[in-house]
Formats: sequence, C-alpha cells, structure tokens
Amino acid sequence: MRYLSTRGGITPIPFKDAVMMGLADDGGLLLPETIPTFTPEELESWRGSSYQDVAFAIISRFVDDIPAHDLRQLIERSYATFSHPGVTPVVKKDGVHILELFHGVTLAFKDVALQFLGNLFEYILAERNETMTILGATSGDTGSAAIHGVRGKKGITIFILHPEGKTSPVQALQMTSVLDANVHNIAVSGTFDDCQDMVKSLMGDLEFKKNYSLGAVNSINWARVLAQVVYYVYAWLKVAAPGQKVIFSVPTGNFGDIFAGYVAWQMGLPVEKLLLATNENNILTRCITSGDYSVGSVVQTLSPSMDIQVASNFERYLFYLFDRNPARVKEAFAQLKAEGRITFNSGETARMQQKFCSASVDREQTLQTIGNFLAETGYLLDPHTAVGVRAARELAAGDTPLICLSTAHPAKFDEAVIAATGKPVPVPESIAKLQGLPTRCDRLPADQQALREYIVRTMTAS
Ligand SMILES: *Cc1c(COP(=O)(O)O)cnc(C)c1O
Repeated sequence: MRYLSTRGGITPIPFKDAVMMGLADDGGLLLPETIPTFTPEELESWRGSSYQDVAFAIISRFVDDIPAHDLRQLIERSYATFSHPGVTPVVKKDGVHILELFHGVTLAFKDVALQFLGNLFEYILAERNETMTILGATSGDTGSAAIHGVRGKKGITIFILHPEGKTSPVQALQMTSVLDANVHNIAVSGTFDDCQDMVKSLMGDLEFKKNYSLGAVNSINWARVLAQVVYYVYAWLKVAAPGQKVIFSVPTGNFGDIFAGYVAWQMGLPVEKLLLATNENNILTRCITSGDYSVGSVVQTLSPSMDIQVASNFERYLFYLFDRNPARVKEAFAQLKAEGRITFNSGETARMQQKFCSASVDREQTLQTIGNFLAETGYLLDPHTAVGVRAARELAAGDTPLICLSTAHPAKFDEAVIAATGKPVPVPESIAKLQGLPTRCDRLPADQQALREYIVRTMTAS
C-alpha cells in the first residue's frame, strides 16, 4: 500500500514514510492509492471481536511495511491505556446510540488516534535510529492528547505552546502535570493565534526544521485518520443487524473524525448518511447545504475544540469529490488563498449531499440539548456531543439506527454543562487525581525568536 498526495506532487511512498512525512512535501495531504474494501461476510466475521481485534483487521489493510506481530503489539499497547475494557463503548439512551470516545487518558476522542501515533512514531524512529522533535500549539485538547501520546517515548521530544490562562484549568493541568523529561510545556503570554504563528514561523525555517527534525502531530497525519476508522466499524458491529445501514452524527471541526467515517463507508461499511454537525463556526454546513465554502472569522463557542474556519482534512474528501484529480484540488486551494473561498458547481454540491447532510447548532440550542437530554435520560452530554445530538434530532428521521459520536467527557467542559443544568458535574477519578500534583511549565513572550532560543537551549542541554 502506497500513499499519494492530494496535490499530485510526490512519488507515492510506503505507510511508514507517510507517517513520518505528516503533511505531504507538496503541501497536499496523504491518502492511500486505493481504499481497501471488506466483504459483508468479513464484516460479519468480526462480530463479538474485541476493539483491538477490529483495529488490527482494519489497520493492517492499510499497512504492509510493519510485520503483523509488531502491528498487533502497537495496537495492544495503545489501547491498554483506556479505562473502559471496550475502549469505545456504545450506550443507548432514548433511542440514540452514543459512541463514547472519551475513555482515554485526557477524556477526549483525540486520545484514540494520538496514543497510536505516539507508539508508531517511537517504533519507526527506533528502527531507523532517528530522533524527532514535535512542535505544536494548542487551545486545549490536541496538546494534552499529544503530550500523553508521546510522554516517555524514546527518540521524541515534544514542545507544546498554549496561551497562558486561556485553556480550561483541567486542560492546563492535563498538560503541565506531565513531568517526563521529554515533555516541554510553554505558556505564552498571548493568544492561541500568537502560539500558532510562533510555531508556523519556526516550521517555515527549513534549515531549523531539518536540524531539529521538527515534526507535527496535528490532524493532517494519515495515521490519526486511520486509527479513527476503527471505531466506526466497531460501533456498527455493536448496533446494526447484518447488512443494515446506519447514520453517524459527528461533531465536526477539522473534518478529521468525519473523514474517517467516510473511509469506513468506502471500505464497505453499510452507512446511509454522515451527519456533519457544526457550532456557530459553520463553514462546512454552508458548504454542504449550499456549496458556499467561504472563510469568515472564528467565533468563540461552548464547544471550543470545533472552533475553526478552514477545515484542514476537508482536502482529503475533495480529492474524491473531484474524481481524484489533483489539478482540480490545486485549483480549489489556489482559489481559497486568493479569494478566501472555494466554489463548487451544482453537480459537485449534489454529490456532496449524497454522502453528507449538515446542520449548525448555536449556543442556546446546545445548552437546551444538554438540559433536555439529562432530564429525559439521566445522561450528561458534553457541549461538543450535544451539538451532534441536536443536529441529528433535526436531520435524522425514520427507523435507521442513529449513532452519535461523543467526543469528550462532560467534566472536561463543565462550564457549559453547569450553565445548562445548574448542577456541578461529577468529577471522574482521572481529573480528581490531577489536583495538587506538581507541575512543570515554562513561560515565554509571544515572540518566535524567544521560542527558537528556548528550543536550542533545551535540546543542547538534553
Ligand atoms: C477535535 C475535537 C472535535 C472535532 O474533531 P475534528 O476531527 O477536528 O472534526 C470535536 N470534539 C472534540 C471534543 C474535539 O477535541
């Protein structure tokens, strides 16, 4: 299995090289040359299998340069850190199936992919006798999941910038209480955008990037998408009768999670529709409902992990929408750069609508949904999940089983939950035990030169 770029500018490369490359060298995103498929009989044969067994069945079809025994171990190790034996269990509440993706160490769905990616990086680096330095900016979720994915891993040093005082206290503690020597938290006196600019400018310095083998862990890494394909199949096996189609509702930001659902569908999973739920940052909803992909400015919402304007993984889907034509992909992104928008013709919009439907959910509706769902079922939704549940109430009708992806534990975003229910959120063990732990974090001004010197100093000392 080889990987190509959505922009057509690289010679196809094997899986391990695709993992290490992250973003394709031509600025595009990496995709498998063909999407492998499974038959309905194969799918049925996985019923009753453990999460790890389903993961191996799916992931091994995309990976032919890691021996089966090693791949199995990587998978076992990655999901041993989850607190639920089913890794991503499905619970049924009021006719809705909730796919709980928050049983990892940082209580958000990004753990599913980043635990695997951390182990994969360590494995490939050891084999190649190489090291890497991960540099990233976070407003909360990605940074903490990335830190927990690579803490203590040989050959990897990670630097994560966050805007000082602007992440939730739980998110900050999840990062700064990690004391492993290879983890460096940096609180920047500035905004999340300042953090991102600092990271971008250093990544753009190709000599610096090469000298320190700088890499990223953002959602453009193919291995992250791949790890997420698994739980769509796993959830289907728990919910559907043989051959039965289901609907997935996915709270969406960068389009990584829902794109994994699209891949599962292309592999042969019986799916009727993917519901793409957005908050007030609704560029993808406008795109799907009316072909309008025009960039506005980011609005702060109750579901901050979905506060984006340009959805980086959307390019992967566009490659298929444009019949795998890299020239059309390049044209679209040139237009986005020049005009701040991509225009789709009516045929393209119609084809998008065959796969996806979408609704945008505002603050008031999110709070209402958390409150009503709790009153009706006794089950507490986090604000991201509530966006997905609410969109599904609007869009899904009929007897098709509905699976709503739950992307975070409510205790992680308790402000919204308290505003909705008037009650404190029961604190799970993994958050309670953070209180009072020693922390380590350095502070820097919002200045890329200061960051550069910090990295040089730290790497020289280690
Ligand atoms: C990252 C995140 C999302 C959005 O996922 P995408 O893959 O970016 O679409 C939704 N909910 C939570 C809690 C997240 O952390």
